[in-house]
Amino acid sequence: YLYKWQGKNTSLNPFILMAHQDVVPIEESSKEMWTVEPFAGTIKDGFIWGRGTTDDKINLISIMESAEKLLKDGYQPERTVYFVFGHDEELGGKKGAVKIVQTLQSRHIKADIIIDEGGIVTQIEVPGVKDNKPIALIGTVEKGYMSLEFSVHKKGGHSSQPEEETAIDILTKAIVKLRANPFEKHFVQSTQDFISYLAPDMKFPNNMAFANPWLFKGMILKQYEKSNKANAMIRTTAVPTIINAGIKDNVIPALATSIVNFRLLPGDSANYVMQKVKEIINDERVVIKPYDDNISEASPTTSINSIAFKLVDSIVKKSYDHVLSAPFLLIGATDSRHFTPISDNIIKFSPMVDPIGFHGIDERVSLESYQHSLWFFEQFLRSCK
Ligand SMILES: [Zn+2]
Repeated sequence: YLYKWQGKNTSLNPFILMAHQDVVPIEESSKEMWTVEPFAGTIKDGFIWGRGTTDDKINLISIMESAEKLLKDGYQPERTVYFVFGHDEELGGKKGAVKIVQTLQSRHIKADIIIDEGGIVTQIEVPGVKDNKPIALIGTVEKGYMSLEFSVHKKGGHSSQPEEETAIDILTKAIVKLRANPFEKHFVQSTQDFISYLAPDMKFPNNMAFANPWLFKGMILKQYEKSNKANAMIRTTAVPTIINAGIKDNVIPALATSIVNFRLLPGDSANYVMQKVKEIINDERVVIKPYDDNISEASPTTSINSIAFKLVDSIVKKSYDHVLSAPFLLIGATDSRHFTPISDNIIKFSPMVDPIGFHGIDERVSLESYQHSLWFFEQFLRSCK
């Protein structure tokens, strides 16, 4: 859906608020592990429970609720606001966000600020903060996405007289080699900014390291490597997600394939990564090609000096007590990446505090988060001037 809320001053570029309507499914086998019916939207123990509550219903509902509240009050924003609600974000956004951005482009619309889902407010994701202050992770950039297919063709045969190397052997060796040779690690701009924003509020010794990253770069990078999430922020990652070969226990298959998923660090283009993968594997028997056309480069980085970052930052500071904030590299993909052609100022932020069960079991978001989220979007809409 694309909604337009006409502003008073048509000479100003619009702002855009985004959220996606679709959710990921529930695995049949995990249904029994849920405390509540996953699609009932139960409110219990101070939380709203259910699939999609954190991703991305909280933003979707908060945006619509706050707009309706302001409409009832007779409020009209100074500049026009568009609401963009895609329906296939979890599938790449091809039929939703992509079509909507094409429509906006055909109308020659440029947006001064776009906000979509992304970083959260957290007291647990960043350890070592003084007084356990919450941190708002304001997404300014997101990693790219690509899947490659590896395939090995080799004459199969009877398993009673195997060759020294089969298609399965060659394929698995290639995967092991790839996993054993991780991509170059380094701090992108947003992570450097993240570190310098938080330095004054870190406990010893992180405060010292964060305040002098040029001196402690090696040490910080090593620390980052220890956690899966932090590791994903300093390099392009690669992981096999599908593997296929064989039909019968006594037949050596003639074909073995695997799909490997890559998340591209800003600066590592899809092309570069594909070449690098071929270099690492260095075996012509392994044919490497894109798995599908769902490839996106890492997004450009929204400047911390932009009006978008400054506005979101100032609303966040008013929404939560003693909150810290920092620019942030998002490791997941969002619909907002498709909007790069119409705006340089895209912020990826979901105003909720440490949601639980994202894409998993017992997904839920606190009523308090919902309250904050409503307030955040109301303040944002009131700032559309
Ligand atoms: Zn989402």
